[in-house]
Amino acid sequence: MGFLDECMRLADELCHQRCMRWIGFGAREVANFILPASCAVCGRADFRLCPECRSEVQHQLHLPPLPDSHHLYVELPALSRQLAVSACGAYGKELARALLAFKNKQRYFLGSVFAPYLAAALNAGCVPQRENLPTLVVPMPSSLKAVGQRGYWPVKTMLDRGVESGLFRADLECRSLLHYRFGYALGGAQKTKSGSDRRGGQTHFVAEPATVKGQPVILVDDVLTTGSTLRHAAMACIEAGYDVTSAVVLALTRPPNTDPEQ
Ligand SMILES: [Zn+2]
Repeated sequence: MGFLDECMRLADELCHQRCMRWIGFGAREVANFILPASCAVCGRADFRLCPECRSEVQHQLHLPPLPDSHHLYVELPALSRQLAVSACGAYGKELARALLAFKNKQRYFLGSVFAPYLAAALNAGCVPQRENLPTLVVPMPSSLKAVGQRGYWPVKTMLDRGVESGLFRADLECRSLLHYRFGYALGGAQKTKSGSDRRGGQTHFVAEPATVKGQPVILVDDVLTTGSTLRHAAMACIEAGYDVTSAVVLALTRPPNTDPEQ
């Protein structure tokens, strides 16, 4: 890990753990106080999430065993292998609106709605390890810019809700060990993808070095589109000495012509 990356990691940590948490908390509390309650999905008054929308969101998410269509593989060309990904649901309709409200409209309570599905998929994907070595559950990082705008880190928020509710197996341990590389952190990753990046060239991320060589890691993200983010994250973790065993995402997007539900 280079000096700049180390500085970035420290800045990242400080922001997530201290000021951003307080700023985010304050902003959310003010917003919740001022704004009248309305359903995060359909806008109906007097509900944070109305019973119909809650039921639809839950209907669109699955508990294990997940349908075959929710298992897929992301290529890791540099290693000539694939990363197995499980998705709790397909991105669309009420689930898509709920996820957008969660990520962009301060409806952070939705983390508690999503957490049981993520936790169940993670529990199912965890393989017992030798010598009681825990499997690390690693959230995709949010850029500093995104955290600044939102006041919180969506993927980590979902995992935190799962930890608070005791939803994870004892041998799973959530650890935010993945960070943006210096430069990528400030701008956000989505606009910086070039063709070579998508094919798995230079990685946007840097992982804290593994204390136990080959410690298993399951990566977690909210939405899977091209698989580029997961590919970069997996490579960064592998470079840092981890064994990336699989990944879990809340929702999977597919090209429109292949998704029967669209
Ligand atoms: Zn609704």
